[in-house]
Amino acid sequence: MEKRVYNFSAGPANLPLAALEEAQRDLLALPGVGSSVMEISHRSKAFTQIVEQTEANLRTLLAIPDNYHVLLLQGGAQMQFAMVPMNLLRGTGKSADYILTGSWGKKAAQEARTQGDVRVAFDSGDTNYNRLPGPGELDLNPDAAYVHITSNETIQGVQFPEEPNTGDVPLVSDSSSDILCRPIDIERYGILYACAQKNVGPSGVTLVIIRDDLVERSADDLPSMLSYPVQAKGKSLYNTPPTFAIYMVKLVTEWLMREFGGLDKMAEHNRRKAAMLYEAIDQSDGFYAGHALPECRSIMNVAFRLANADLDGPFLDQAAERGLTALKGHRSVGGCRASIYNAMPIEGVEALRDFMIDVRGKN
Ligand code: PMP
Repeated sequence: MEKRVYNFSAGPANLPLAALEEAQRDLLALPGVGSSVMEISHRSKAFTQIVEQTEANLRTLLAIPDNYHVLLLQGGAQMQFAMVPMNLLRGTGKSADYILTGSWGKKAAQEARTQGDVRVAFDSGDTNYNRLPGPGELDLNPDAAYVHITSNETIQGVQFPEEPNTGDVPLVSDSSSDILCRPIDIERYGILYACAQKNVGPSGVTLVIIRDDLVERSADDLPSMLSYPVQAKGKSLYNTPPTFAIYMVKLVTEWLMREFGGLDKMAEHNRRKAAMLYEAIDQSDGFYAGHALPECRSIMNVAFRLANADLDGPFLDQAAERGLTALKGHRSVGGCRASIYNAMPIEGVEALRDFMIDVRGKN
């Protein structure tokens, strides 16, 4: 078999090896079924059990209360950029508040404008999205339909340490790149959505956690596939779901529970990994510079650059030669980005840290 590298891709990202191996082992015939998970009806008993177990695992890990639906949908996070305002903004006569702390939040707001009135409650675009709102900087409308945040901006590496207080206005979070990285209080959210391809599984499935009253409040004139009430009633099986992707989410969540016991330990592990890289940056005497301000740094995506941009290319090439891949930063920020999601083993982060120290020493 080809040797596996340490893959720092922002997404689709590396998956836990144990989950991949389990899928490989059972790919041709699921135990007790005799067919691949890709070859059975989504209405079969075997698959229904897989969906139910996947939902149960997510409920356990995130301590999701009973008054929330857990939906496994398609269309990626960007379909939620549209579904949220279609269901909860269009036709309400209200506006929605968007807090822009990076490229994805900006894109979510753009999409929402196709459905209704959007207010920008904060925008750090003037400093290329390197920070979060400080005290008193959030301009929230108490009558907004909802407030939208991006809990972790994948490109800029800016993460909310905790949710902003939105009072009685429902908080909607795009948590695509940090869901399951730490415990969160679901009750603070009206809707939390996340594409799977970073911390949850392969691309193709999108997780939507939505409070009952928001399902009830949703528009009732939408095409079925775009309607939260229809999808909630269908319990993730309104139409043929991405069966293989859901199965992988089951394996990934089981790996997380088995390996870490829950999100407390997972968070501890993630903080340790991130600290190693930020330390290498901060102790480099300016050889490396982090993009996000220290108090806003993401524990999932470490965006940094080399002070001498001429060294970017050689840095990336030599890293790849050492089996440290996909470290190129997004073009809007430049430099490098190490995405260190749940499945990135600590050995991979140690190898990158050692490489960074080594490069600095040689230059
Ligand atoms: N939001 C965030 C925070 C993301 O990181 C991404 C993907 N990188 C998206 C949205 C878009 O996800 P998708 O491609 O599944 O629509």
